[in-house]
Amino acid sequence: MAVESEVHHESSEECDSEEYEDDEEVLDTEHIDVEMEEVDFKTQGKERCKDAFLNFSSDYEDNEADEDNDLVDEDEEGFGLEDEIDDTARANDLDLGDAVGAGFPIHDPSVKWNKMKPLLGERYESPHPLQQCLTNYAIKSGYNIKFAKCDTVRLTAKCGSKMKSQPCPFRVHASWMTQERSFQIKTLVDEHKCVRNFNISNLLSPRWLARHFLKELIMKPSLKCKEMQSIIRTKFHCGVSWCKAYRTRCRAMTIIDGKLIEHYARVWVYCHELLRSNPGSTVQVGVTVNPDQTTYFHRMYLCFKAIKEGWKIGCRRVIGLDGSFLKGTCKGELLTTIGKDANNQVYPISWAVVDIENKANQKWFLELLIENLNLLDGGGFTVIFDQHKGLLEATKEVLPNVEHRQCARHIYANFRKTYSGVEFKNMFWTASLSTVESEFLRKMDDIKEANPNAYEHLIARHPHTWCRAFFRPDVACEAVENGIA
Ligand SMILES: [Zn+2]
Repeated sequence: MAVESEVHHESSEECDSEEYEDDEEVLDTEHIDVEMEEVDFKTQGKERCKDAFLNFSSDYEDNEADEDNDLVDEDEEGFGLEDEIDDTARANDLDLGDAVGAGFPIHDPSVKWNKMKPLLGERYESPHPLQQCLTNYAIKSGYNIKFAKCDTVRLTAKCGSKMKSQPCPFRVHASWMTQERSFQIKTLVDEHKCVRNFNISNLLSPRWLARHFLKELIMKPSLKCKEMQSIIRTKFHCGVSWCKAYRTRCRAMTIIDGKLIEHYARVWVYCHELLRSNPGSTVQVGVTVNPDQTTYFHRMYLCFKAIKEGWKIGCRRVIGLDGSFLKGTCKGELLTTIGKDANNQVYPISWAVVDIENKANQKWFLELLIENLNLLDGGGFTVIFDQHKGLLEATKEVLPNVEHRQCARHIYANFRKTYSGVEFKNMFWTASLSTVESEFLRKMDDIKEANPNAYEHLIARHPHTWCRAFFRPDVACEAVENGIA
């Protein structure tokens, strides 16, 4: 079942995209392309299949499971109607100073967010969990707070209301203990004289909110920001802007899907899984090994077995090659090959992610494509791509007998920059779609009459590659566009 494994040690290549030159040799770095083997993960250790995120989200889900019931309970307890400060809290309005030691409670971070409450003398691992606890407490109780000081050595929080006539007494102060390494609440005045108004949007940060939307977004990834706004209003009794809902969504999706860099780090697992579920497919990953033995992603190729077989049996002998830049953190380029089936519908064949689009990468991509589709020297096949020097050279080298067409849409896009207007547009497309050479020549004469420079511009771009009249009839495809990739 295992596919034969090949490790190609290619000649040294420069890996820095900006300074890349095909002929330049850089010692000590090597690119290794590995054809993936099929691996049965069931035989691997249990830890290998364990997903940290799934554990994390399921833990979180357990904590959130009885959310709705709790809101009902809170209403019964007077949530949102009456002040909740009880006698115990008032008894906490003391100042401990430094005369404290062991025997005080230790903060439990696994407590559900809306059950958290600061206690006088409570000990924390660091200021951050206390800040979280106070934020949760403030959001739950509906009183705003502000952190007057919050750094690595101390934390002071006050009431966040702007009522100047009657200052609110709420205050929390915490610092490190002298006898042990614990961060402790030294002062706690858990009493508000301001009006509870749930005006807490500054506490509802995207970071805080994102954790509360994991379950919703896993269940419904298409959840709209407007819907999120209304959920936040219902759940936390406070409105937030659309932009904040959007940033919350982005953060939550990052937690769910992981970051792009993490995706690349798991590319081996991904490829093995592809081969497990699609035996016979071609998957190849190339890495760059640096002198310090660190390994970086270089390129990756993918073609499914069913697609290979399908193309050989039922598609036109035309392949559209195209590439597009990948934006975001990791950059790179996506190379694609697209076919056309008997109904002229798009048929994706294979794709690759490469660091840069150059002759070496294009050649590697084409060689794998030739092997997968059995193209041999390209005789009887047609490739369509826009003017790209690297691709043109690579094609000439590995597919010497292939027919080359250029995408007429790209030719026109360049043509339009200088010769715009409806008249030129119609003349160009009539010429390109001409099925007889004499018709094409007549249209080109019309263009020459309108503007001799426009005629020269088009003649210089090899009309036999973008006009139907010059295409080979045995390919049985009249496509002049590559706008399928
Ligand atoms: Zn207050």
